[in-house]
Formats: sequence, structure tokens, C-alpha cells
Amino acid sequence: MSENTAASAATAAAPAAASVVTGNASAAALALPRHFIRQIVDEDLASGKHTAIATRFPPEPNGYLHIGHAKSICLNFGLALEYGGECHLRMDDTNPTKEDVEYVDSIKEDIRWLGFDWGEHYYQASDYFAKMHECAVELIRRGLAYVCHLSAEEVSRARGTPAIPATPSPWRDRSVEENLAEFAKMRAGGYDEGAATLRAKIDLASPNMHMRDPVLYRIRKAEHHNTGDAWCIYPMYDFAHPLEDAFEKITHSICTLEFEVHRPFYDWLINALADVLPARPRQIEFARLNLTYTVMSKRRLLELVQRRLVSGWDDPRMPTICGFRRRGYTPAAIRKFCETVGVTKFNSLTDVALLEHAIRDDLNRTSPRAMAVLNPLRLVIENYPEGQVEWLEAVNNPEDPAAGKRAVPFSRELFIERDDFMEDAPKKFFRLAPGREVRLRWGYFVTCTGVEKDAAGNIVSVRCTYDPATRGGDAPDGRKVKGTIHWVSTAHVVPCEVRLYDRLFLLEDLADLDEHEDWKNALNPNSLITGTAQVEPALAQVAPGARVQFERIGYFVADAKDSRAGAPVFNRTVTLKDSWAKQTAGAV
Ligand code: ATP
Ligand code: MG
Repeated sequence: MSENTAASAATAAAPAAASVVTGNASAAALALPRHFIRQIVDEDLASGKHTAIATRFPPEPNGYLHIGHAKSICLNFGLALEYGGECHLRMDDTNPTKEDVEYVDSIKEDIRWLGFDWGEHYYQASDYFAKMHECAVELIRRGLAYVCHLSAEEVSRARGTPAIPATPSPWRDRSVEENLAEFAKMRAGGYDEGAATLRAKIDLASPNMHMRDPVLYRIRKAEHHNTGDAWCIYPMYDFAHPLEDAFEKITHSICTLEFEVHRPFYDWLINALADVLPARPRQIEFARLNLTYTVMSKRRLLELVQRRLVSGWDDPRMPTICGFRRRGYTPAAIRKFCETVGVTKFNSLTDVALLEHAIRDDLNRTSPRAMAVLNPLRLVIENYPEGQVEWLEAVNNPEDPAAGKRAVPFSRELFIERDDFMEDAPKKFFRLAPGREVRLRWGYFVTCTGVEKDAAGNIVSVRCTYDPATRGGDAPDGRKVKGTIHWVSTAHVVPCEVRLYDRLFLLEDLADLDEHEDWKNALNPNSLITGTAQVEPALAQVAPGARVQFERIGYFVADAKDSRAGAPVFNRTVTLKDSWAKQTAGAV
């Protein structure tokens, strides 16, 4: 596979600047839209606040990556590439019960496939457990944290409202010594789950509920996939994340908008420990990607897999990176899409047609063409010699002269698409009909002379004559035809399985689905239709993962799992109908 890689990722939207980006804000980077995060980075470099940037992508390894994650990956790794900085891959594995090694491996594979590389900067949040524990002890020493024995329910009842302050915990004013001893007891397993937590001591009257003495550590007597049973206390995400960023000297910690209300705590913690932390990272929020007709929460995706509504995480209908890969999407198109949707502070719903447009746009330039018939109807050329075979020259990709040509066998009996013939055709029907002439792609002009029917009156074949002078598709006398149709020679076809994929959901906005509603009802019953295609012989040996455009039908990919040399299986990546281009054509 020769997918584009990292260097071109940064310049995907600026084809003129093809050089590898090194050093600060190169010409290629400057050609890209200056969204607000690029502006922040520009200012931080110009003011000397930073001399180099470090970003990170911090997935929780509890599921496969999806297209929303791709937006974050393109943003974080993309900035590092543009500015010659570094981007860390950090597994946010602070939750002991949910994580899985299978997910860790898939995350790495998907990021690499998207064209990015973390180099030596691979980290796991769990590797910092000891350092985080030290930070917690330091907060206690500074009188900024205390061990509390209220249950989660009691804390929630004492929380107050934005206007009414929280009721102080009876343990809020314990001495530093007592807190140190209690925290040590928590750490040593001296308390059961739920019997004690470590809480920050901040502001019970803060209008921001996250500042009302949030929990920093809780007891979980569970095995961790990385640290085993070394710990029975685990840091909360809000406590762990700023520290991880600081330990790794992240300059710009980019996250989605729902973390905006957590930022005061992020800053509080970094300030509280400023003298012992190696850096002061800054949290910046942007709007997450939401797509029409697409479910994007890991919980829901897991449910689709577990309820066997799809064949797995890599089912080509899934919005996961591995699903898209199997569907035939390209990394370059996904990166282009992420750059096109941009980076903003406003939540919105992006039309999935824009993603499909990006896929078509890339595949149009890169996919070789071939002829395949999905719904065959026999066409017999009465004046073509029996037994004769001609190998006609066909252009592999009109968009790419370097793709060359291939030979396609032509003979007296062909298959054409059933839709391309009508017995009683209206005037505007420019394909084949009795008495009408069309061009066979890369072949000859043919004129329909009649049809042959079975006893029940069904058309079993169409008869025609060809004009030998029109070989290659042009008439020397200058006469024109309105239609060009595709075909395959019946004696040479390779029948193969095709999987026609469509959107998994029929509902446009899936964000509003009630949590408990059976959203199975929103599934598209026709999201997968399996059929047989008659393809030209050149495709028999196609390599799994290879992409092709079936002329006039759509883009396909040989399935990476089920396709074999001699027995290809094709997944439909996307049809040729570009609803996005249609919608926007009038506007531009
Ligand atoms: P989900 O809601 O699917 O479970 P998550 O946010 O819990 O996603 P994480 O593994 O924590 O999943 O996400 C890793 C990173 O990807 C985070 O920085 C998160 O902000 C980002 N991310 C997740 N979903 C999206 C999205 N839809 N658009 C942009 N970024 C996203
Ligand atoms: Mg998360």
C-alpha cells in the first residue's frame, strides 16, 4: 500500500508546498487557514513564551478510534508537523477496569495508517501513578487536599446549587498529619471501596461545581492491565490529565469543548504545584466533530458490535478508522476532510456528504477504472464473427496519465447493465433501445436491432449490430451518439461477490436519540446488500485492499479480509453520486 504519510499530511491542503515541514511556521503551514489554535501557537512562538511546541493525543484505550478521534489526531499531530514540534501518543489508562490491550494495538495501527508518527513519544498515564501520588501528597502537605469519608451520594447531596454553596465535609479541616496518615491508609488498602476519597480543598461557594472540592483519588480494588495490583487507589481523570500534560511538558493541551468547565480546576492544579512541576501546559478547547447519520460514541459503537448489528469494529459501515479502512476510504481523504471541517469553538453537525465528497475527490484522482456489470443483460452482436476476440485498449485513469492502459477482451457476446436497456424508451433515454445507437466504452458503436424473450415474455438478450469503423469509440464520419455504456465479455468475465454498503442509520441527527430508546429502529435495513458482479478479467488477481472505480457504478475496494487472488470480494466504498458537490454547485 502506498498511502500518503506524515510529511504530506501537513501540506494536504496546500499542494503547491510539497516540502517536508521543518522549523517554525513554514510556508506550507502558513498557507493553511489560520484557525484560532494556529493563531494561539503563532502568538506563543512570536512572544517567546515557547520556542517549540508539544501537543498530545490522549485516547482512553476502551474502544477503537473513530472519525471524531481522527479530527483530534489530525489537529494535534498536524500542528506538531507544521511547527516542527512533537506530538505525544498517550494512553489515558487511569481507569483500571475498562481498558484492553487489543484497543492499545488498534489505536497505534490506526494513527500510523492516518499518516502520523509519535516517534519516541509513547506514554501511558499509568506509568505516572507514582508521580501523581507524590503530587497528591504534596497537595496534602500544602493544606490543599483532605481525605473525606462521605459516600458519593452524600457528597452529591451536600453539593448545593450554583447559587447555594456546598455544605463542608466533616473532614474538611483535618490536620495535614492526619490527612497524610489517612491517605497512606487508603493507599495501603486499609479502606474498602467507597469508604474514603482524597478531595481537593478549593472553594465550596464557587459557581463552578468542579471547584467545590473535587475528588482526586478513589479506591478501586481492581487489577490494572499495566500496573496489575500495585495500586488500589486510582487518580480521577481531572486530576491525572493536567499532571500528565505537565510531566510531558506539553505546551498546548487540546481537548473538546465539554472540558471548558474543567479548565479552572486544570489551572488551579497547575498553579498549586507550579514550583514542583516541570511545565505549565495550557488547555485549549475546540468543538468536537459530529456527523449526520453517524453514531460516534464509543459506548454506542461497542453496543453495535456486542449486539451483532455489525460484523465487528471494522465492519465497513462503522465510522471507526478500521471500518473506514476496510470500506476503502483513504488516509489522505480523511485528513483533507478534517482540515476542511476546520477548528472552531462552536458545536455543530457536519453533513456526512462532505466526508463522502472528500473520499470521492481523492479516489477520482487515484483509483484505476475497470468495467463491472452488477445486473447483467446479454447483448449479442449479430455481425461480429463467432469465436473472435479483440483486446481493446482502455485507459486506466483519465485523471492520471501515469496510470497507463490495459487490454480488455471484446467478443460477440457481452453483458451490459439491465438498466442500460429499455424496450419502450422515452425520447430522453440516451442508452440502448430498439433502433438506437450507443457507444460501448473503449469499444464500438452498436445499434439495437431487437430483443429475444422467453416464454414468459422476459427479455433474455438484446440483439445489435456494430460498426467496425468505430473501433476505439469514434465514428470517422463524425456522427455522434449521446450514450456510452459499460460492458464485459461473457466468455471472459470473472464473477465475484460485491458488498454494497450504505449508511448504517436512516436518522440524520443521532445526538438527540434518547439514551434508553431502542435506537436499533433507526438502523438502515439496506445498509448492506450483497450481490454478484461480472468483472473484467484484469481484476481476477486484484490484491486485497486495492481500490478501483467500477465505471459508472462507484468506487470499490477488494476486501482486506475476505478477498483472494482468483476469488475477489469487493466492498463498495462510495457511489459516484456526489450530493455534496450538487448542493454546493449553486452556491459557489
Ligand atoms: P467517546 O465520546 O467516543 O467515548 P472520548 O472522548 O471518551 O470519546 P477518548 O479516547 O477520551 O474518547 O478521546 C481521545 C481524544 O479524542 C480526546 O482528546 C477527545 O477530546 C478526542 N475526541 C473524541 N471524540 C471526538 C470528536 N467527536 N471530535 C473531536 N475530538 C474527539
Ligand atoms: Mg474521554
